[in-house]
Amino acid sequence: MLAETRWKPSFFNIHVDRNGTRLFFNSVNSHIFELSGGQRESFDQALREVEEQGHCADPRMQYCLKTLGFIVPESENEYERERRRFQSTARSTESLRITIAPTLACNLHCSYCFQHELRHLPMLSPELERGVVDFVDRKLESSKILVMRWFGGEPLLALPQITRMTEELQRFCASRGIVYYAEMLTNGALLTPERIEKLNELSVRLMHLPLDGAPALYAERRGISLEQALAFHERLLDNVPHLLKILKTLVIRINVDQHNPRGGEDVVRMFKSRGYVDRRIDFRLGFLNTLPGILDCVPHDCLSMSAISSVQTEFHQFLAAEGYSVYGGPELLEYPCGVPLAHCFTIDPYGRIGKCVPCIGTEESVFAQIYPDDIDRTLREMEAADLPYADYDPYSSPACEGCKLLPQCLGACPRNHTPNGVFQCGLRDGLADRLAFFSTH
Ligand code: SF4
Ligand code: SF4
Repeated sequence: MLAETRWKPSFFNIHVDRNGTRLFFNSVNSHIFELSGGQRESFDQALREVEEQGHCADPRMQYCLKTLGFIVPESENEYERERRRFQSTARSTESLRITIAPTLACNLHCSYCFQHELRHLPMLSPELERGVVDFVDRKLESSKILVMRWFGGEPLLALPQITRMTEELQRFCASRGIVYYAEMLTNGALLTPERIEKLNELSVRLMHLPLDGAPALYAERRGISLEQALAFHERLLDNVPHLLKILKTLVIRINVDQHNPRGGEDVVRMFKSRGYVDRRIDFRLGFLNTLPGILDCVPHDCLSMSAISSVQTEFHQFLAAEGYSVYGGPELLEYPCGVPLAHCFTIDPYGRIGKCVPCIGTEESVFAQIYPDDIDRTLREMEAADLPYADYDPYSSPACEGCKLLPQCLGACPRNHTPNGVFQCGLRDGLADRLAFFSTH
């Protein structure tokens, strides 16, 4: 006769009290319930019974808790299971992801840009272009998907280089049955309907565009006149329908600090005034901060972590009220960013291969070099290098070990777990409000 399974509450259950109700959340399956009164009592009671007796007196309740993932077999080590899940994603070579800055030059001079103080702004040479294509070709051996992310500087200044490299890469991928698509982070100032059509041919399917809220602040932060800022916003809005024809996702990132905590709302109103309400538009707030590290960024008046969470919550409520999709809700994370992934690299215009995207153009995280005439040498160099962040394991990091939110955030920025990093937990503050919002949206 088979022994009856004994159960235990999931390690990743989180209970948060808010305004007399209790939010029950499981960070692996992202189920959220906000319960009060008798329902809350019954849910609490059922979990207590499982904890004490290994099962629940009411079999229907036990079935319900099991199906929702709030209880798991007593023998299951969920923490190790989640760690292994992360490690297997990190080791996978199924997708090859390359973030490449074909130039560090930019047509704007944003006050907060980590590259705005760089003096020498090279463009990828024709030899290095060829080297990049050869390198990607060789690294693709075991992959089924290639994702190129065009970064800068301003990547549209390097459109001819991007076009040449993409045409080669599309050809390789098509001949080997590899899925190819691209993403682009651009300031948007050089977008025109013709260039957008070109980006379509180059399989750009996701675009990030940074804004600051009202055009006056945009002008101030980017060192341009108000007239220029107004004209830019008009042009950008004119381009939105063209962008939505080719993109799967248009990320509008609104950079906020103490000067413009409601900057996101200004931008959303601009889009709404043109009638652009579309599920593919992903409005996100970007929080400027001065954590020491990636060059010496120009100081801004950062928001505190608790202010960030309330600004975020208010923005989410505003988006929902205006009829927009709200992204960024609780979900099981596969990886925190590309640095711990074995098959994810950055390339700068000097052909240096690294890991951390905002560090492109600096020595940090660089571990190999593209040699256009000797890609074997590049590959040997990579083999021999101590790959930065290869051992990153948020489940063992002193800052996050034992945190019940780990599957949702994987320790946030891996760089902040290094001896020189400054760790700051970005998920715990305002958790109750966030869960309450997403329990109904
Ligand atoms: S390590 Fe941090 S700064 Fe670097 S790419 Fe990842 S999240 Fe960004
Ligand atoms: S960053 Fe915060 S929420 Fe995320 S795993 Fe670490 S302690 Fe937990």
